Amino acid sequence: MPGPNSVPLLDVNRDNRPYREEFMSALAGVLDSGRFLFGPDVVELESEVAKYSQAQFAVGCASGSDALLLALMALNIGPGDEVIVPSFTFFASVSCITRLGATPVFIDIDPDTYNMDVDQLDSLIGPKTAAIIPVHLFGQCARIDRICQIAAEHDIPVVEDAAQSIGAAYHSRPAGSWGTVGCFSFYPTKNLGGMGDGGMLTTNDEAFADRLRLFAGHGMRPRYYHKVVGINSRLDTFQAAVLRVKMNHLPQAVEGRRTNATRYHHLFREAGLVEDGPVTLPVIDENAFSVWNQYSIRIADGRRDEVRQYLADNGVGSEIYYPVPMHQQECFENIGFKAGDLSETERASREILNLPIFPSLTVEEQNRVVEVVGQFYQSGEAKKAA
Ligand SMILES: *Cc1c(COP(=O)(O)O)cnc(C)c1O
Repeated sequence: MPGPNSVPLLDVNRDNRPYREEFMSALAGVLDSGRFLFGPDVVELESEVAKYSQAQFAVGCASGSDALLLALMALNIGPGDEVIVPSFTFFASVSCITRLGATPVFIDIDPDTYNMDVDQLDSLIGPKTAAIIPVHLFGQCARIDRICQIAAEHDIPVVEDAAQSIGAAYHSRPAGSWGTVGCFSFYPTKNLGGMGDGGMLTTNDEAFADRLRLFAGHGMRPRYYHKVVGINSRLDTFQAAVLRVKMNHLPQAVEGRRTNATRYHHLFREAGLVEDGPVTLPVIDENAFSVWNQYSIRIADGRRDEVRQYLADNGVGSEIYYPVPMHQQECFENIGFKAGDLSETERASREILNLPIFPSLTVEEQNRVVEVVGQFYQSGEAKKAA
C-alpha cells in the first residue's frame, strides 16, 4: 500500500477521473453505433490530430511502433538501406529499421536536450542513407529545422518520432509537421494517452497519406486484391472515442505539465541541490516549446542508482529512461556498435533520472520529491562526516 507521503511516478486514474462521465458516454456511443472499426470517431480524431499538429493529413494505426514501421514501409526502406537514428531512445525507433532488413546508423545526443546531436548528422550521411529518424524525446523537439534542411540538401526523407511529443513545437511549428511523416503514440503514458494501444501518422503529402493507409490495410485495394504486402494496423473506434475526450483536455494537461516543470526548477534551486550541487536540471532549447512528457534530471556524481533506491524506500516513484542504449542491446549486437562508441548517450544512461510530472501531480507531492532527494544528500553528508 502506498503510504501517506508516497508519490507515484504516474497516476493515470487520477488524471482520468474528472472526465469519467465523458468517457462513459463516448464509449456508449460507439457501442450503440456497432461500428468498431473505421467509425466516425476515428475519422474525427484523425482530423483533430492533423489540425493540432498543423499537418494536412493524419492516418490512424494500432500503435506508435506500427506508425514508425508503416512510415518506413511506405518509404520502401529495405535491405541495403541505412537509417540514421539516435541510440538514446525507446526500442521501437530502431526495431522498425531492422525489421525491414535495413541498418541503423546510431547518432549521439546533445547532452543538454538528449536529442540527436545535429552537428554530427552530415558526417553520418552516405550513399546508402535512406531516411533520418529524429526522436523528439521527453516532450521536446530535436533541432528539426536544421535536420530537415540537411536532409533536403541530400534529398533524404525525415521520419519524425513524435511518440512522446504531441503538441510540442520548434520555432512555433508543431512536431509531426516538419518531416516527410510524423509518428505518434497513444500508449497510456504518453501525453495523449489512450486506454490501450493506438498510434497515428501525419503528413502533408496526400499521395503519401494514401500509401500509408494502403500499407496499414494489408496493401489491399480493392477488397481482396493486394497491391503490396502491408500489415493489419488499425486504430479501433473505442480507442478513438476515448482519445477524442482526452484531445479536448490536452491543452490543460500540457499546461499542468509545464507548470509542474517550472515548479521543480524553483524547488530544486531553493533546496540548494543545483548550483554546485548534485542535480542537473533539464535544459530546454530556446526555440523549443516542450510538452514535458518526462522530467529528467541528471545525477552526475555516480550515485544515481542510490538516489533512485532512496526515493523508492521513501515511496517516491522514479524511472530510468533509458538504462541501456540501443547500440548496447543484445538483439542489436550484430550491428557492430560497442560500448564507448556514443559517449554522451552512454553517460546519459548512467546519469539520468525521470521524476513524476503527470498533470494532476500536486504541489505537496512535488515538495516531497525534492525533499527526499535533499534528505538523501543530507544523510550522505552526515555519513561522510561521521
Ligand atoms: C512510446 C514510444 C514509441 C512506441 O509507441 P507504442 O505506441 O508504445 O508502440 C516509439 N518511440 C518512442 C520514442 C516512444 O516513446
